[in-house]
Amino acid sequence: MKRVILLRFGELYLKGKNRGYFEKVLMNNIKESVKDMNCKFYRSTGRYIVSDYDEIDEITIIDRLKKVFGLVSLSVAIEMDTNLNDIENYIANLKINAKSFRVSVNRADKSFPVQSNDFEKKLGAIICRNNPNLKVKLKDFEKEIVVDIRENGLTYILSEKIACVGGMPLGTAGKGLLLLSGGIDSPVAGYMIAKRGLSIVGLHFYSFPYTSELAKQKVISLAKLLTPYLGHIKLYMCPFTKIQEEIHKNCSPEFMITIMRRIMMKISAKVCELENCKAIITGENLGQVASQTVESLTSTNFSQTEFPIFRPLIAFDKKDIIEIAKQINTYETSILPYEDCCTVFLPKNPVIKPKLDKVIREEEKLNYTQLIDEAMKNLEIIYC
Ligand code: ATP
Ligand code: MG
Repeated sequence: MKRVILLRFGELYLKGKNRGYFEKVLMNNIKESVKDMNCKFYRSTGRYIVSDYDEIDEITIIDRLKKVFGLVSLSVAIEMDTNLNDIENYIANLKINAKSFRVSVNRADKSFPVQSNDFEKKLGAIICRNNPNLKVKLKDFEKEIVVDIRENGLTYILSEKIACVGGMPLGTAGKGLLLLSGGIDSPVAGYMIAKRGLSIVGLHFYSFPYTSELAKQKVISLAKLLTPYLGHIKLYMCPFTKIQEEIHKNCSPEFMITIMRRIMMKISAKVCELENCKAIITGENLGQVASQTVESLTSTNFSQTEFPIFRPLIAFDKKDIIEIAKQINTYETSILPYEDCCTVFLPKNPVIKPKLDKVIREEEKLNYTQLIDEAMKNLEIIYC
């Protein structure tokens, strides 16, 4: 008899022929998340089991597994060889801290001598004997004791289900490039898209000396805070000062932000090629600022045509974004004061509904190909 952690996965069941691949990736991600822990994994009739860990590590292991995309829930369970007397003895010693309960028996092993319904009643009576104030309630119970008698000669007894993050296993959708600023939105956007299976490479634009070393450090901290969900992140740092100065010098000020964002996307497309990323991800949100009107987003979209731009937060209210930021523990860092390169050379009257042809005409005043090549040469990589 031993304590184990039983893992359940959700949407993978929908994947038909690819299921094996999804499971393999999930299993690797699970192992990676607890690789510094002393524990074993095995599959037992359609489930994953974590076992043979030091009991003091149980909370840490659970905390890590809760953040693995693809897992929907987990339970701590007792695993024992299937044996009627052993199950009854174990149940007889349970102390249950609740007012009501039910027992649910799943008898996958049809050679087990007692039928599910009868066994539920019997075990229920045993528990009541030992917990005199406890009532059986088949519906609206406070606690459920599950006895799962598997085909392979093993029985699992458990009660609590702990929710995990769900989603699709990280990496099963390929790789994406997250434009990571120091704000609230972009870390949440990265989390949301990674939850659908896209693993993340980061890209940050900085404008030293207009933005400080601290602002850069903040972005690195945010990337590190995402690693429990996203795994290790390769973060590109792109110098953006010269590009901004050139736009400022050559283009009409009202187009400053629009053109800046288009050049960010052109650089992003190059980094995508370099990294074999299939999409660009931003924390943009409709109507939040002048650069996030439909017209502004359109002019950003057409700055490059190789890669789709995913904006998982496009329709979120700020308060809902903040809620997720708090959940994933990036909020407190995101609200620390910082300067973003987007706030440098900010015009008084940015164009709110830019016309694409006008933007392009304005942008042509720049030698942006050369500027972009130069920025690409000066990329710095940080492993978070
Ligand atoms: P956030 O809270 O994520 O900073 P925001 O509301 O401040 O977003 P913007 O500054 O317009 O909005 O940025 C929109 C998106 O553009 C960000 O969510 C991010 O994906 C990207 N972005 C902005 N600044 C940078 C930067 N310096 N480096 C990389 N990406 C950036
Ligand atoms: Mg920002």
